[in-house]
Amino acid sequence: MIILADNVNVLPGVGPKRLEALHELDIFTIEDLISYFPFRYEDLGERLPSETLDGEKVTFKGIVSTPPVVSRFGKKNQTRFGLLIDHENVRVTFFNQPWIAQNIDVGQEAAIYGTYNAAKAALTGMKMINASADALDPIYPASKQVSGKTIRHLVELAWADVRGTVDSLVPENIRTKYRLLDRNQQIENMHFPPDMPAAKAARRSSAFEEFFVFQMRLQLLKLADQNFAGEAVNYDSEALRAFENQLPYTLTSVQHKVIDEILQDQKRPRHMNRLLQGDVGSGKTVVAAMAMYAAVTGGLQAVMMAPTEILAQQHAINLSQLFDNAGLSLRIELLTSGLKVTARRQLLADLVSGEIDIIVGTHALLQPDVAFHHLGLAVIDEQHRFGVNQRAKLRENGVNPDILAMTATPIPRTLSITAYGEMDVSVIDQLPSGRKTIQTTRLSHNQLDQAISFVKTQIDDGAQAYIVTPLIEESETLDVQNATAMYETMQLEFPQYSIGLLHGRLSNEEKKVLMADFKANRIQILVATTVIEVGVDVPNASIMLILDADRFGLAQLHQLRGRVGRGTRQSYTMLIADPKTDYGTARLDAMVETTDGFVLAQRDLELRGSGDILGTKQSGVPEFAVGDPIKDLTMMEIAQQEAITLVSQDDWDQHPDNQALVDYLSRTMARYRHFD
Ligand code: ADP
Ligand code: MG
Repeated sequence: MIILADNVNVLPGVGPKRLEALHELDIFTIEDLISYFPFRYEDLGERLPSETLDGEKVTFKGIVSTPPVVSRFGKKNQTRFGLLIDHENVRVTFFNQPWIAQNIDVGQEAAIYGTYNAAKAALTGMKMINASADALDPIYPASKQVSGKTIRHLVELAWADVRGTVDSLVPENIRTKYRLLDRNQQIENMHFPPDMPAAKAARRSSAFEEFFVFQMRLQLLKLADQNFAGEAVNYDSEALRAFENQLPYTLTSVQHKVIDEILQDQKRPRHMNRLLQGDVGSGKTVVAAMAMYAAVTGGLQAVMMAPTEILAQQHAINLSQLFDNAGLSLRIELLTSGLKVTARRQLLADLVSGEIDIIVGTHALLQPDVAFHHLGLAVIDEQHRFGVNQRAKLRENGVNPDILAMTATPIPRTLSITAYGEMDVSVIDQLPSGRKTIQTTRLSHNQLDQAISFVKTQIDDGAQAYIVTPLIEESETLDVQNATAMYETMQLEFPQYSIGLLHGRLSNEEKKVLMADFKANRIQILVATTVIEVGVDVPNASIMLILDADRFGLAQLHQLRGRVGRGTRQSYTMLIADPKTDYGTARLDAMVETTDGFVLAQRDLELRGSGDILGTKQSGVPEFAVGDPIKDLTMMEIAQQEAITLVSQDDWDQHPDNQALVDYLSRTMARYRHFD
């Protein structure tokens, strides 16, 4: 007798080789196997002959009425027999499948899938189907080594033994509330649905179970985090107020609100794990600066991690300026991978001795020899560019600092419960005042001259411009060539102005000089590849001209456009493209229609449909086997609510009703890929 916890190799036909192939599919135990579901069902369309059109593909289920006869038919052989369906008799013919004759007898029930010829009341059979099941053919996700058929066969073997022994993971009261099947019924109907509605109901229950288990993990993670003693930052409110008064602008009410939320967290003797969401240009950096300064006034250090060298450099410069202007002498340093050995050694020494207050850098900050004197806060900018692993690594780094992750959220806000469900979320949903809506236009390549003369008038008026050339087939060489060619063209077009060329091949020092020159308006036009995509902040730059704009994704275009509209000048984005697909056109149209990142993210989803969602890696939304976190968003929200309610109950994990869930979570948490 096989049980759920058994290794799959207890099944006949599973030798070492097949076992390895099953492991590739994450199937280790019998329980894994029976939880390995078909992703769709082919509806073989069981009907009566009277309901079937001529030429239609259909499944007839009936009683074999005449003995099968095998004969030659030209070069083929054919097997013929009669099938009585209700009161109608149909003549069935199979070509070149003589073995069928051996498998059927008069009086026996048979189900046959084939093409119907109405005039002759004849069915040309394509395959025999299990008559005791249904006309739904479950299709399993297969691999090169294991076919769907093999999986189906193994599932049948296993289910025969473990059927009825599966405990439900979703507690009964929740199942009742949302009319979900118990796990036995659910699994049975996933693999062996009697009809399509039953399959649908089973998928609904499976999706909920998957979401619920996922949300339970997030809640447990969150609980573990909150119970984790963190530093109670004893910051100096007076000093913070003084700093705020010295800022070059007044903070918006929303910025105030999120700063308060963050300070509250910092003050508590618990670990902060907070996500700050705000569209591009919404002013997240200054919020981070306040939080970092709070840590510093509390005698702690802060670190800020950015996804690119350019952005890290810019943050280091901007932060230094902000604090200098406020008359505060903080020591802020930059750590990137380009640093020379001796300089790096000195920097690390000053960091560990506590002489450095704030360190800014790229993932170079995650190297094991980077140690702090007393780290109080880690800010992660453009969080969606980092993997979950990097987020975790920063936390492991000796102490467990408060975490403030920032993102311009390329995903709809509602989806963030999935991507960042274990974090608390603060949202900036209002841009600083005085901003003018960026005007976006779409032009074809033969209008490039027009665009360039427009750029001219703007630059004559004191503006600065970005000209962005796309990545070509992920080839950096071509990419650089393309940008270089554009740079040369612009030099001819604008002899009176200074032009810069920025791309990934430049050294950090070269990039730094270029960005500083652009920021100081010593350069008026910056021709760049997408290296400027994230975070770059030069408020006087008000023109963004994007070449071959149809080569960019919507999220990327939005990020690029976010480089302008940061000051009080009227800004313009010009998308130069002759899109070849409807999808390309629709994306550019969406850009012209709205500047709201959330709306765009939603549009992006609609345009792509579900399935390939925003590139899962980019957005941080994990993948699920059955449920679709976008289409089934409401269900995900309910699962989250129920998980929160459950873990908030005292001793919930001691209750007998929840034992299966508790066991399952502890069994699977270790090899759960979203958190490894
Ligand atoms: P993002 O949220 O995209 O990181 P930034 O922090 O780079 O945005 O801010 C965008 C621009 O807005 C910067 O030039 C910044 O100095 C400016 N800014 C931030 N807050 C305010 C404010 N309250 N009023 C005016 N300008 C602001
Ligand atoms: Mg930013």
